[in-house]
Amino acid sequence: RTTHFGYQEVPVDEKASRVADVFHSVAARYDVMNDLMSFGIHRVWKRLTIERAGVRPGHSVLDIAGGTGDLTLKFSRLVGPRGRVVLADINESMLRVGRDKLLDRGVGGNVEYVQANAETLPFPDNTFDCITIAFGLRNVTDKDAALRSMARVLKPGGRLLVLEFSKPDNPLLSQAYDQYSFRLLPRMGELVAGDAESYRYLAESIRMHPDQDTLKGMMEDAGLERVEYTNLTGGIVALHRGIKL
Ligand code: SAM
Repeated sequence: RTTHFGYQEVPVDEKASRVADVFHSVAARYDVMNDLMSFGIHRVWKRLTIERAGVRPGHSVLDIAGGTGDLTLKFSRLVGPRGRVVLADINESMLRVGRDKLLDRGVGGNVEYVQANAETLPFPDNTFDCITIAFGLRNVTDKDAALRSMARVLKPGGRLLVLEFSKPDNPLLSQAYDQYSFRLLPRMGELVAGDAESYRYLAESIRMHPDQDTLKGMMEDAGLERVEYTNLTGGIVALHRGIKL
């Protein structure tokens, strides 16, 4: 089956290995590409995520699909020496780049690095005060399983924040964004990282991801309550938050 844009849709059982190839391939250049492709705006989206997380000294935080650890870095300062942050990712290369970066920045003993699949988190029930998944959920094969797994390991009263590409709320912006992501992005990927294919995957995975209200419903189905979302940059990105009661 080909998608709307003529790319081959990846069958579900091949998706995980395709995602693994993409992130092994982009790991070393991931941070540079992130700044370049989002014109640095991903930093603003992440700052808002930190503000809404309500993390305090002593808290336990899970940053799943945490990759190169931008959120973990900030959380590790917020939770202080009595708290802990788990940077977890399914991909060894991303986790290695993240760990090296955090160690270079002097992040200390309150961060643990765990290779884990969001669908089957290897932690006991009711472990974390806060869980974040930033630009990760769209890469997960079984998103409902991942949301259930995250809800399970949250403590009662804990918050789940999902930062992800979403659906622009204005048709003009939507058109411009399609041009950008399907034409310019793969070219930038080719020029800067020598890898157009990974950036084509990126554009396609964004297009296939559930829109704001669908994701809200999926979070509610996974058992989260008081789910709400905020559109950022005209809905190009949305920040969803739910609470486990
Ligand atoms: N959170 C980081 C950020 O915002 O910069 C990294 C986001 S990166 C676009 C997506 C990450 O999701 C990759 O590091 C990838 O390995 C990870 N990932 C993909 N599928 C996953 C899964 N099933 N479980 C955990 N992590 C996964």
